[in-house]
Amino acid sequence: MIERFAPRNTKLNLLILIICFLSITIIVFLAIKSNDDIQNIVQKQFSERQLLLSKQISSGMSEFLNEKTTLIEVTALHISDASPDEISTEFRNVYNKTSGIYVFEYLNESGVVTIGYPMENTPFGYDIYKFDRVEDNETERTLIDTFEWVRDNRKTTITRPVRLLEGGLGAFIWTPVYKGDEFKGEILAIITISEISDKFLKNYDPPWDIHMINDRGEMLYDSSYIYNYGEKHPDALNSTDILMQSILKNQTTGKEGIGYYFENGGHEKKLIAYSPVIWYNQNWSVAVISPASEVNALINSVYIKQSLFIGMAVGLIILGSFSIILLLSRWSKSLELEVAKKTGELNKSNRLLKDANTKLNELDKLKSDFISMVSHELRTPLTAMKVSSELLLEDDSKPASRKELVQILIRNNDRLIRLVNNLLDISVIESGKLEYNKEMVDLHDIIDTAVGTIKSQYEKKRLNIRTDIPEALSNINVDKDRINQVFVNLLSNALKFTQEGGNVEIRASEFEKYIEVYVKDNGIGIPPDKIDKIFNKFYWAGNNSTHQPGSAGLGLAITRGIMEGHGGSIRVESTPSKGSVFILTFSK
Ligand code: ADP
Repeated sequence: MIERFAPRNTKLNLLILIICFLSITIIVFLAIKSNDDIQNIVQKQFSERQLLLSKQISSGMSEFLNEKTTLIEVTALHISDASPDEISTEFRNVYNKTSGIYVFEYLNESGVVTIGYPMENTPFGYDIYKFDRVEDNETERTLIDTFEWVRDNRKTTITRPVRLLEGGLGAFIWTPVYKGDEFKGEILAIITISEISDKFLKNYDPPWDIHMINDRGEMLYDSSYIYNYGEKHPDALNSTDILMQSILKNQTTGKEGIGYYFENGGHEKKLIAYSPVIWYNQNWSVAVISPASEVNALINSVYIKQSLFIGMAVGLIILGSFSIILLLSRWSKSLELEVAKKTGELNKSNRLLKDANTKLNELDKLKSDFISMVSHELRTPLTAMKVSSELLLEDDSKPASRKELVQILIRNNDRLIRLVNNLLDISVIESGKLEYNKEMVDLHDIIDTAVGTIKSQYEKKRLNIRTDIPEALSNINVDKDRINQVFVNLLSNALKFTQEGGNVEIRASEFEKYIEVYVKDNGIGIPPDKIDKIFNKFYWAGNNSTHQPGSAGLGLAITRGIMEGHGGSIRVESTPSKGSVFILTFSK
């Protein structure tokens, strides 16, 4: 039963280990699979964030520039009918109320700067017809061209940012001033790029890099200061860079988007998000740039977190599995112990049952032995008595034989009486009801009496009997008649089981607390396998040939009962065909 637990337990453990292994495999597989998704999601989110930033910057800037331009147009309406002083006051008011405009200039209908604010930024008296210069070197548009185009089209126009005489870049806003159909002049307001970049582009720290270019790819702003103001962007980069070229194309045509390009000879990958600034006829593009490694760092940090989570999950699975295995093994161990205990108990009760059964069988056998023994022991003398009685009845019997018949009657009668007495004795002894009339007696007397009782039978069988009892033996407190019965029993057994001419000896020794008496013969002895049983009632150790008539196997049982009833004991030592010695112990 115990063995059956072990393999079942191992199988269960194996199953748990397999489930544990499968769970770990699934988790790791899912983790690897989700890595790609994570990478895509992070990349997408990162670039979207960058695009959003570029949109925020460009829309803020567009709003700002358009608002300023509208303000200039409104001012142009206001001053259509105003005196030079009024125009000057208007310029001052507007300049002070708003920010970001470097200078307001008023050119009269002949193209001469007549009014301006602030004064220090105004080139009073500047006549574009006298000091014309090429303002736009690509289309070769001159100040005059622009002045006349604005006058003729009655529309505001803005020039590409150009280098100012005072330094830096500036965008020129030209607005016509009409009173009805009468051309009065134009307002020329300059917004410096440094003003715009201070407001919108400078507030971003690394990893962000902010660029702004115009529709010709000229650099208007570069937070990393790699490019100079007005420098042409494609020239500064590898012109064969296809990625960069397509990005620049999108930027210069007013599109928004995201892209990658390489810097430093292709070693450094950059993510760029760009968004247009639409301002009247101007088309600029704000770009937010970050190193691609930034995304990787982000992805790696996600991976680290994911790995940590997976590690924890795997750890938990392993821990859980081993805890279950440990728990199961403990549980099964306690179960095994319990089973072992119960098995032990069962075995014990089985043994007890077996013993009880054996005892019952023995008792059963004893019962049938007893019946057959007693019936035999009764029938033999009764038959002898019946035959003798019938012969006595016959008249023709001689007196001599009549005497013999009467003797047979008496002997068998004695034998019956002895048997019945023995049966009575054993039943009284076993019920514990035998009463002893104890008195202090001298063992010499008892032994002499017993020897005297049996002497004639010993002589008949020519057995030598010798007594060797120390003179000064203490008296003992016993029932004289019952102890006499003990000695007669032992002596008649010695008589029965000793061949003619044999020796029987009675010796005694006194010890501090007890006296031992030895009844020794050199008869047939008792086989070792039977020695333990001879004190049982109805037991006789010999075979039918050695069985003596009149012995019902009760003598030694009665003898032991009497000895124990006196607080003493009897034991035997014997060697087959050498003889036996029965040792009586009397406590003093
Ligand atoms: P019984 O009354 O029939 O003699 P006991 O109880 O006295 O029965 O003896 C039981 C058996 O013990 C005897 O049948 C005999 O086999 C054995 N026994 C007893 N005394 C001796 C002895 N002195 N020598 C050999 N065997 C003995």
